[in-house]
Amino acid sequence: MTTGVPPVAARNPHAGVPFGDDDAVIAAAVEDMNIPALLCSLVHMTGDPSWVRRWRLPLLASASDLQCGLSAADQATVRREALPVIASYRDRGCEPRALSPDLQLEMMSWLAGRPLEGRLADMFFEDMQFDGADRRAIGWGDEVPAEVKAASHVVVIGCGLSGILAGIRLSQAGLPFTIIEKDEGPGGTWWENHYPGARVDVGSHQYCYAFEPSDHWSEYYCQQPELRDYFVAVVDQYGLRPHCRFQTAVTALTWDEAGARWRVETRGADGTVDAIDARFVVSAVGSLNLPRLPDIPGMDTFAGPSFHSARWPEDLDISGRRFAQIGAGATGFQIAPTIADDVATLTIYERTAQWMFPNPVYKSAVPPGDRWALRHLPFYTRWFRFLMTYPGISTGTTPFRRDPDYPDDDGVAISEANAARGEQLKAWILSGLQGRPDLIDKCLPDYPASGKRIVQDDGSWLGCLCKPNVELVRTTIERIVPNGVITVDGTLREADIICFATGFRHNEFLAPMEVTGRNGTSLRQQWGDEPTAYLGVTVPNFPNLFCLYGPGTNLAHSASLFFHSEYQVTHAMDAIRAVLTSGARSIEVRKDVHDTYAEWHQREISELVWAHPSIKHSHYKNPAGKVYTLSPWPIDQYWELTRVLDPNDYVLA
Ligand code: NAP
Repeated sequence: MTTGVPPVAARNPHAGVPFGDDDAVIAAAVEDMNIPALLCSLVHMTGDPSWVRRWRLPLLASASDLQCGLSAADQATVRREALPVIASYRDRGCEPRALSPDLQLEMMSWLAGRPLEGRLADMFFEDMQFDGADRRAIGWGDEVPAEVKAASHVVVIGCGLSGILAGIRLSQAGLPFTIIEKDEGPGGTWWENHYPGARVDVGSHQYCYAFEPSDHWSEYYCQQPELRDYFVAVVDQYGLRPHCRFQTAVTALTWDEAGARWRVETRGADGTVDAIDARFVVSAVGSLNLPRLPDIPGMDTFAGPSFHSARWPEDLDISGRRFAQIGAGATGFQIAPTIADDVATLTIYERTAQWMFPNPVYKSAVPPGDRWALRHLPFYTRWFRFLMTYPGISTGTTPFRRDPDYPDDDGVAISEANAARGEQLKAWILSGLQGRPDLIDKCLPDYPASGKRIVQDDGSWLGCLCKPNVELVRTTIERIVPNGVITVDGTLREADIICFATGFRHNEFLAPMEVTGRNGTSLRQQWGDEPTAYLGVTVPNFPNLFCLYGPGTNLAHSASLFFHSEYQVTHAMDAIRAVLTSGARSIEVRKDVHDTYAEWHQREISELVWAHPSIKHSHYKNPAGKVYTLSPWPIDQYWELTRVLDPNDYVLA
């Protein structure tokens, strides 16, 4: 129906929520604001580029200095000058000025401290969404007939970060789909891991969907309940819940060549088995969700509660108990400082010392004034996301690359820069252990900095180790007995509770599902300990199957898995579209294309620090010490590799 009234243009979701707060509220808020993000936002409020041109940022943003090195005096000047401008923006009805792409690029370059160009600039333009458009939203129009869509049911396995995104894109494409999830609700790892202290260690403002405003996080690195609630809210906002089957595990996938379809076998929580027919399957099962329990003699004889960190009992009472924590990776680093004051004793068994870096805002709340700005000031959230994300992305994998000319005799550094990084991190460790020389040798790693997933400390980990009721044990465990843990030197340390913070079976992608592809090929056998997929997404012999967060895509450098997930879902959707628009029945990556990619991946990864032979234990490595889990690509390179599906890489049949 045409009414003659022009449609009201929807407000750009990143333009901030209009406000009418009085000057006193604004003045209070300005005190908490991030000055570089504020300066960019002032350009949007006024259209005047001098807000950024007048200032030079001495540093890139980092967790240690979110103000990019601006002096307190300079910050005060900006706050003072900003106040009347924000008030005037309010009085004009909170309508931001349109900025030219050239000016937007200039502002990105200003924050980056160098001219931004090429694919890095293109990638950030896509992420920044200055026009409010979600560039990756599916807009297939009429190119796929309705009856073809109706006959193309897609099963998504897993309702975590990637599965939810796949659901959103499938919904936009108008395809019928079902998301099957073994847990009771959405969120994947953020639904399951509710141990004390669980929080994200990638900045929250980049650990979220690009197309959703990121103005609401209460902490810079938010805690698990807030992330779980975020995923629940997104599922409901995008109407995905009717498509979800919770408490249902996929047990097997079998390709039916005659019908060119997948048979998806499931088992419900009550043991009910079922089978669903799917034309396409998207595996979004995650990669860090199969708990790895160690194989320590006597584990089953322990008299008290013992459990993996991802299975922390809801009703566990730790107060006044003797607590043994086995493992000190990203998870253990969060548990120990959180519980140390509640338990009688805490014994931490650590096999390998960890590199850690200081992060003063790791557990900090976003101050109220900054939250106000994130919510109300135009594009402030986008600029804040940019300044949190850019520094890591800009260096790509260079800091992790072995310098062939660097003397690597002692195995603790791979380049001059890596050695310097190691010295910085060592200084942090030593500064936190003052007065405890007995802990120094136990805490200094014997492999290159960043060689394992680096963990973060706001002082609470090292502080925890120094507490009188905490003991750090680096001696190998010999066995577990009913009343505690015995190390190989014969010492028994008694315990009432044992938590195995021992990580996940990261190399076993898509386990424990039995996946059988073309000609009865078993995925488990095809992969063995060397799982590979083209771009981490598609696998020869397994048509119409797409992996998200598949082999070779975990990130040990820069940005967040949300970025990767966006690219992988786009690639999968492009492949599905290629089938549906071509009249083909299936799409499968060409074996030679896959093999060339897999060789390239191995060549690259073997040059990076995570493959260094001095690292004896690492969940990144397979039993032979090779790395198949991680991405060796800078984010913008992976963005480019996945951006446009090349039909020549695939066989449409
Ligand atoms: P992890 O990094 O693999 O750490 C496991 C710990 O258990 C290590 O200290 C490991 O020692 C130890 N361990 C394993 N097997 C052992 C054995 N048989 N005997 C003695 N010690 C043993 O696992 P995680 O801490 O659960 O972290 C896994 C990944 O999950 C992280 O890399 C990250 O990607 C993700 N994660 C993220 C967050 C976050 O974002 N905040 C939090 C938690 C986890 P070695 O070092 O010697 O192997």
